[in-house]
Amino acid sequence: MDAIVPGSDADRLDPLEIPTLCPGAMAASQPWGASPDHQKALGFPGELVDDWQNVAIAKMGELLEKNRALRVYLDSCVKCGACTDKCHYFLGTGDPKNMPVARQDLLRKVYRRYFTFTGKYFPGLVGAEELTKEVIDDWYSYFHQCSQCRRCSVFCPYGIDTAEISMAGREILDAIGKGQKYCNEIIGKVHTIGNNLGLNKNALRSTLEGLEEDIEDDIGVPVKLPLDVKGADILLVTPSADFFAEPHVDGLIGYAKVFHAAGASWTISSYASEAANFGMFIGSYEQMRLISLRIREAALDLGVKRIVFGECGHAWRVAYSFLNTLAGPFDFLDQRYPIPQHICEYTWDLIQKGALEFDKSKNDHIRLTYHDSCNVARATRMGDQPGGQFEIPRAILKTVCNHYFDMAQDTIRDQTFCCGGGGGLLTDELMDIRKKGASPRMKALKTVAEDHGVTHMAAICAICKTQFAKVMPDWGFERDSILSVHQLVSNAIILQKPKQENDDDR
Ligand code: SF4
Ligand code: SF4
Repeated sequence: MDAIVPGSDADRLDPLEIPTLCPGAMAASQPWGASPDHQKALGFPGELVDDWQNVAIAKMGELLEKNRALRVYLDSCVKCGACTDKCHYFLGTGDPKNMPVARQDLLRKVYRRYFTFTGKYFPGLVGAEELTKEVIDDWYSYFHQCSQCRRCSVFCPYGIDTAEISMAGREILDAIGKGQKYCNEIIGKVHTIGNNLGLNKNALRSTLEGLEEDIEDDIGVPVKLPLDVKGADILLVTPSADFFAEPHVDGLIGYAKVFHAAGASWTISSYASEAANFGMFIGSYEQMRLISLRIREAALDLGVKRIVFGECGHAWRVAYSFLNTLAGPFDFLDQRYPIPQHICEYTWDLIQKGALEFDKSKNDHIRLTYHDSCNVARATRMGDQPGGQFEIPRAILKTVCNHYFDMAQDTIRDQTFCCGGGGGLLTDELMDIRKKGASPRMKALKTVAEDHGVTHMAAICAICKTQFAKVMPDWGFERDSILSVHQLVSNAIILQKPKQENDDDR
């Protein structure tokens, strides 16, 4: 065999490389269970119910009735194999149960046993199986190794969406009292306090005031971050990570500078101080609705005319796909603007109108690429052109940076790889699967870094940013190599300083 020459094609990392099969490798990977208090706060049983088998089958029947797509997905797989090597968790672990078709089969075999004629009477013919404790255990492991990213569905000739199947699996688990701590605890906090972090109104106000001082100290411009301003035109709903952690907070500063440059009247709400909606991760439309309703109530209470969402992938998916149906009609908002609107749409619109000025050289120390976040890429749009969700963030980045390079085409846009931490997996006990699942994206990043000297990657998702800050150091990048898109906007935007009053003027 020829020796591998460093820098040659032979030693290049291949994000799509099919791993050696390792059956059962990730069977023990499970999130911590929700406590009885966390379960009951969302209306779920506190612990595994006695007749869990009947309850689970009844819940599955209810979901099949409500969600016709679920039944179609469970009925229509022809085992063509096109999806088998498309999941980042399979590529990262080699565990065959992380092949999308195998993940679906965990639910499908039970569906066939209890809901189809052949499965009831000839189970061996169609791979139908009883719902046992072992099956429930597999569901808990492997439905929490799906980030609901939908990459597999792009390659399925029938459009089968494994994310929907994982969501249904998690919903059934919640119904029998086997919920996941990370998501359910966070949803409870949103109901009681308004955001994932449990940041109350006073803490939020002081955080925003501190940021205003920091910005003025930095650039000498009194950029405001208003809270609970009645009669403001725009309500900004942003992930609570934007209020404190880097690089998220740098993105928030970027939105504030854009609003300032546009002379916009805007506000954040302390009641709806969270864009994230973990109801989607646990498959619960009811929880999604309750969280979405907070945004409607805040918009009505403040009397705003528009709602703009900050950088958060799954939040934009829930907002774009479900906000109007779950919490609408929003007939009290200004109908001339998209309802809701993404901050990237807002900024890009201003750039196109020539309303913002930039000094791109402020980002010249950065050689940049962009990570398409799954939920934005495969479940939403931006702007009024197909593919706007891919092009608008890139167009903003190219407006504010001189050195931009895309990763390989089969790892971006609709074929993007998940960061590895989406779908309710961004919790420390799942760090192993998170890191393994991130490997296809990291390999593509390494390659663009080798080819073009890329030093940083931008994203518009709070989960992606948090996950990459953990994972990138393992691949030779600095922890702060992951950036918010509006952080780069913030670096480059030119704001006019207020005229200094001098003694004579006075
Ligand atoms: S939705 Fe994403 S994480 Fe889930 S099986 Fe498909 S590719 Fe894997
Ligand atoms: S690509 Fe679609 S039809 Fe083919 S095995 Fe996967 S889920 Fe089934």
